[in-house]
Amino acid sequence: MKEFKFTDIYELVSIIDRSVRYGESFWNYNEGIFIESSTKFTKDTLLHLYIVTRAMNYHSRNFRKNGDCMDEESIKDWISLFRTYGVHIGAYDISDEDGPYNWLEENDDKFEELFCLMADEAFHILFYNRNFLVEFNKLVAETVKETEYPSEKLTGKGRLKRVRIPEWLRTAIFHRDKGRCVYCNTDLTNIVNTITQKNFDHMVPLDLFGANDPCNIQLTCESCNKSKSNKDSSTSFKYQLWWN
Ligand SMILES: [Zn+2]
Repeated sequence: MKEFKFTDIYELVSIIDRSVRYGESFWNYNEGIFIESSTKFTKDTLLHLYIVTRAMNYHSRNFRKNGDCMDEESIKDWISLFRTYGVHIGAYDISDEDGPYNWLEENDDKFEELFCLMADEAFHILFYNRNFLVEFNKLVAETVKETEYPSEKLTGKGRLKRVRIPEWLRTAIFHRDKGRCVYCNTDLTNIVNTITQKNFDHMVPLDLFGANDPCNIQLTCESCNKSKSNKDSSTSFKYQLWWN
């Protein structure tokens, strides 16, 4: 268990959701981490990386453009947010002529620390939303296509090699998708029905430059998995309701 604050998280989620809808690619990111996280299933996912880098880029641009108009109140809001997440940040010098942007520049490691903590919470919300995840994975695929990988990570066709999906991720996907095929709703729990087979499917296929990332995996039955072509980036937009 982990304690979440959910303070200002929906604003961050909204920035990330809009960024994906407007096709804002990975930019100004750590390529080494991208390579590591797209070639094997890591618990710090590509979505964590995207959230932190987008938040850094977004706020850096915002502070640069609108820093002059930021009043003491908005700085106080930031300081309060840092306090909520337990990140210690240097005091803001009101007499500093370069203003808030300078404060951000001097403390960019603290902002990154804050966004890493917030990314865990934003991930918690977005990981349930397959509508979002399939669009996010299409963005990821564009970067995978442009990235130079070590040759041992690639197939002869220049796609990422398939790697084994670890048990912790199979369990998480099974629970997120409530033990049912996301397409046809077949019960895959094996509690009553004993002849079903679980498949862990890449929403954006490796063949279309999909990544080996936790956010790209969904639960399907054998037959839906076989009928989904490796040229088809999709999920279903159906979800189990809490009640009818
Ligand atoms: Zn199915």
